Amino acid sequence: MTLEETKEKVRSYAEKYAAKKGFRLNPDPEELELVIEGLAKRREQYGVQYCPCRIIYGDKTEDRKIICPCIYHEDEIKNDGACHCALFFKGDA
Ligand code: SF4
Repeated sequence: MTLEETKEKVRSYAEKYAAKKGFRLNPDPEELELVIEGLAKRREQYGVQYCPCRIIYGDKTEDRKIICPCIYHEDEIKNDGACHCALFFKGDA
């Protein structure tokens, strides 16, 4: 699979997940593209989409927490308006 194809899979996941949760994706197309590309590269390298903005420790139990959507994003969105990577933003509702 090419990087472009992997990016499309990540984009589709992000759009569906955002819609399901009532989030928005980053409204800045360039920033959004960067996060999607970061996730796609990690998905290609590791087989799972580890957060591109967090450190991978090499410990499966620890690292599972940062597979997108990570365990932190809901609190971050609630408190800061966006997840750490600025992929998901608080919805309008
Ligand atoms: S910070 Fe955002 S992009 Fe990173 S794993 Fe969490 S939800 Fe995904």
